[in-house]
Amino acid sequence: MSNITRRDFINGTLMVAGASLLPFDGSSQAAMAELEPSYYPPALTGLRGSHPGSNEHAHSRAWAQRTDWGSTTDLNETYDLIVVGGGLSGLSAAYFYQQEHGRDKKVLILDNHDDFGGHAKRNEHTIGGVMLLGEGGSESFESPHEFSETVLNLLEDLGVDMDLFQTAYDVDFFKRHNLGAVTYFNKRTFGQDKVVQHPFCDYPGFVEGLLRPTLSYQEAVQQTPLSEQGKEQLLRVLEGGQHVLNLPKEELRDYIQTHSYFDYLKNTLGVDDPGVLRMARHTSIDYGQGGTDVMTIGEALETGPLGLDPLTSWKDAMEEGTYQEYVNKDGETYAVRYPFIEHYPDGNATIARMLVKKMIPDVGPGENPEEIVLSKFDYAELDKSGNSVRLRLNSTVVNVQHGGDPSSSSEVLVNYIHDNKSYQVKAKGVVMACYNMMIPHIVPDLPKEQDAALRRLSKVPFQYTTVAVKNWRAMKEMGIGMAMCPGNMHQVAAMDFPVSMGGYEFTKTPDDPCILHMRSAPLGDTVGAPRVEQFRDARYRMLGLTFSDYEEEIREHLGGMLPQVLFDFDRDVESISINRWAHGYSHGNPGIIGRQPFGRITIAHSDAVGSSLLQTAVEQAWRAVKELG
Ligand SMILES: Cc1cc2nc3c(=O)[nH]c(=O)nc-3n(C[C@H](O)[C@H](O)[C@H](O)COP(=O)(O)OP(=O)(O)OC[C@H]3O[C@@H](n4cnc5c(N)ncnc54)[C@H](O)[C@@H]3O)c2cc1C
Repeated sequence: MSNITRRDFINGTLMVAGASLLPFDGSSQAAMAELEPSYYPPALTGLRGSHPGSNEHAHSRAWAQRTDWGSTTDLNETYDLIVVGGGLSGLSAAYFYQQEHGRDKKVLILDNHDDFGGHAKRNEHTIGGVMLLGEGGSESFESPHEFSETVLNLLEDLGVDMDLFQTAYDVDFFKRHNLGAVTYFNKRTFGQDKVVQHPFCDYPGFVEGLLRPTLSYQEAVQQTPLSEQGKEQLLRVLEGGQHVLNLPKEELRDYIQTHSYFDYLKNTLGVDDPGVLRMARHTSIDYGQGGTDVMTIGEALETGPLGLDPLTSWKDAMEEGTYQEYVNKDGETYAVRYPFIEHYPDGNATIARMLVKKMIPDVGPGENPEEIVLSKFDYAELDKSGNSVRLRLNSTVVNVQHGGDPSSSSEVLVNYIHDNKSYQVKAKGVVMACYNMMIPHIVPDLPKEQDAALRRLSKVPFQYTTVAVKNWRAMKEMGIGMAMCPGNMHQVAAMDFPVSMGGYEFTKTPDDPCILHMRSAPLGDTVGAPRVEQFRDARYRMLGLTFSDYEEEIREHLGGMLPQVLFDFDRDVESISINRWAHGYSHGNPGIIGRQPFGRITIAHSDAVGSSLLQTAVEQAWRAVKELG
């Protein structure tokens, strides 16, 4: 390791080294059981998420219809259940199956990534011996007050203590350090690097405790680097609202559900300034599916973008119950959603890790989420032949077929590719907990209607980047808790959620290391183009970039946003993980036909109901297991 420089570390050399640790000798048992003790994917940096090596086989199956994988080795392994996909849904399915049928039942989970958890991924960075945790994807419990009994029971089994978050989430962190929501205008797009102490939208409202702006709209607009015409138009948007439409309440509701937000901006408010339109397009981030250019006013309202703060001038237009005012303990109304504090230091990866820990107890110490926060799992334990549940990583499933007639067959054959070699395993039943639009490509005999329903699905690309910095003095100096960045690839650059638990301490002072969390909802090149087209454009662009492309973008972004005297990229950035989710949120719903059982094969995953949430991942796993009987 001594010849690995810090630059190499940032560049992801360790990721390549980590991948090369994957031994393979022709037997899958050896493939996972003989992993070196140093095989520990959460600590890999560089290109993560849909990392290189994770999606090539799936793409050649789906895009090039490849079926010839060379000679296939029959491993002579027969399981009670095989689960395709090791995300929260697949892991829950394995757990529920054993709960229903007995802990001695043999289960194999196959996943194409080098780590388990699907979108719920743990990012570890280390600076000067201090381990920093961040979320590579699925981050918090959303609306836990609405969790079903199935979800609550599972969380209880896993030892989740909902009350813990009340103290673990340091709600005063932002106030103590005077950190608020700002906007960073970059030189490349807006002609000048400038931070204005106002977010101009409601996106940051979900961060519990983040300070709201004290500048008025007029004051903030004057500080932007927009042209005089742009400033005038921005103010018009911010001061717009339902009164501009001048419609009775009943008609207003109908109007906002059927009329385009961009038409409202352009035609009703007369906005044509490219800077203002860009700000408007980029503020929906992950709340909507795509940019606001493809949204109705009603859809855009849900995301709180430019000029559509439902707490102010759009309240009447919102259906009752679709938004929630949140009043903090000082009596300030500052968010439109329930407090978003149910967050573990590595996000929902904690739930994935707890599920694995429950099913494979020797994977590491700790009996509940708090106790596993600092627990370094031993990945060599995941695929031991003596386990009743085996978890096999780096394994892309390419074919799932019944051993005979699907209506009567008692056996399903599953083929997967590991280290470029083809293997076959068998099971009495299979739960498909992978991206649902992939299922028609791997289950060739599906009934036509079901095949068509699944093929209609798409996914929204999304990216979380974690940047480990040696200190955050520059963020403190600029008062940045979260910066909206309409000119950059990452539309958001923020401090991570201030959560400490189980011996893990969130950064305390600006002199300490911390993780900056950057998020990007990449949009298509053509404003207003249909959503699915934009997702495709953005996905290809995302996957086509190298680590150094991302690094350059982040260097320019942080370098332009933060003062040079306090921040130097080469000096202060220790490591970067780019979690690219080319297939992020679900888009479309396969309906009852799409998710129906097919012989001994059932369908789980949050895609099965078109809703990307931890709770739907779990509920769909429960349904899929019950359907297997
Ligand atoms: C960036 C991001 C942030 C999010 N934040 C939140 C949040 O805060 N709260 C929340 O509730 N939800 C959030 N979500 C939604 C998230 O999708 C769910 O929380 C949940 O993790 C979904 O679990 P899943 O198992 O259904 O799907 P996935 O996580 O997609 O897991 C499916 C797994 O199957 C694998 N797979 C696919 N094809 C194959 C194949 N052929 N062979 C083998 N394996 C295969 C996939 O690679 C993946 O590992 C977020 C999602 C993203 C992308």
